[in-house]
Amino acid sequence: MLQKCEYLTHKAENLHKFFENYLATIKVLPKNTKFEESHCPDQDLAKIFSKGSGKYRSKIGKLVDTFQKSFLELNNQKRNEFLKIFEETNEVSTLFISPSNAVRRAEYPGRTGTTIHALLKELFENTFNNEPFNIRDHYKVYYGAHQNAWCPFCGMEKYTRPEVRKADYDHLLSKTDFPVAAVNLKNLVPMGDHCNRDFKKAIDLFISEDGTVQKVAYPFTSTISPVISLKGSKTSFSSESKRSWKLTITPRTQEVKSWNRLFSIESRFLKEYLEKRKDTQQVSEFESEIWSFISVCKSRRELVEGNEQWTMERMDQELQIQQKNYGENPKRRYTDANYLKLAMYDYLSNHAEDNFKLAMLDSINSDGD
Ligand SMILES: [Zn+2]
Repeated sequence: MLQKCEYLTHKAENLHKFFENYLATIKVLPKNTKFEESHCPDQDLAKIFSKGSGKYRSKIGKLVDTFQKSFLELNNQKRNEFLKIFEETNEVSTLFISPSNAVRRAEYPGRTGTTIHALLKELFENTFNNEPFNIRDHYKVYYGAHQNAWCPFCGMEKYTRPEVRKADYDHLLSKTDFPVAAVNLKNLVPMGDHCNRDFKKAIDLFISEDGTVQKVAYPFTSTISPVISLKGSKTSFSSESKRSWKLTITPRTQEVKSWNRLFSIESRFLKEYLEKRKDTQQVSEFESEIWSFISVCKSRRELVEGNEQWTMERMDQELQIQQKNYGENPKRRYTDANYLKLAMYDYLSNHAEDNFKLAMLDSINSDGD
């Protein structure tokens, strides 16, 4: 996305591999063959699937029994259809290139949509955490493999530190619509809390608002470099409530549009940075950024530059320095909300009304605080 996510080789990958091996073993069994330990070639999964019998059968065991029954009741053609869906959905990066090929749960043959969803959801929620898969350890390694902890999906929040908590792992292809990829690490990526819990949720990422298929950048291999412009906004210096914002995000590619839609970037920028929160004492981030800029310029004028009055040209110079600072280094641009600050300084530098800038300049040139 905004920064590349590292794909790691880790023992947590085995859960998906072992399940794939189990499927390969049962695909030729006759209808109604009950689950046996030998159907799972990998001992670690075989032990989990075999737990309990009769009325003491474990929860996961019952889900395996039900899935196996639903799969084996399919004829050969339908079994192959299911296996093809399993294989193609789990080629996650390929699906991101051709999202119209995605097959959703409602189209799975027979009852397999329901049964595989229940089984793999359970594996995801209750098996991943434990040895020998240990997704918590995977997170520790993942966290350490990145140069910074900023959420690569929004650049405004940080990943939780592994010693505090494991970050949420987002199913890129949701487990509701694409359950066969529920425990595949190629489909699972650590995500900041806000992005995962409040914005992306379980949205079908390939379907845009108007119902058309839309491409999404695959976070393990591709990045996007969106730029936000506030050109055309109307800003009043004295009254925050009289400002009206216009946001434009470029380039207008499908990948940038879908990113904005999935992570509500435009509305987060507005609500969390630009607009004053009604009926509260809080000032906006934009407002506090202006005042810290004024204060730095004022100190420079008074303490470094011999108390001379500044011209508009001198203030513009400082605005351009800020703009450069937030935008110049592509590695830092999508950390610490720098791309949003870049948009603010680009606005102040190039698009703000004269009145607004004159008022800023007056404050820089005024005596006292
Ligand atoms: Zn985020």
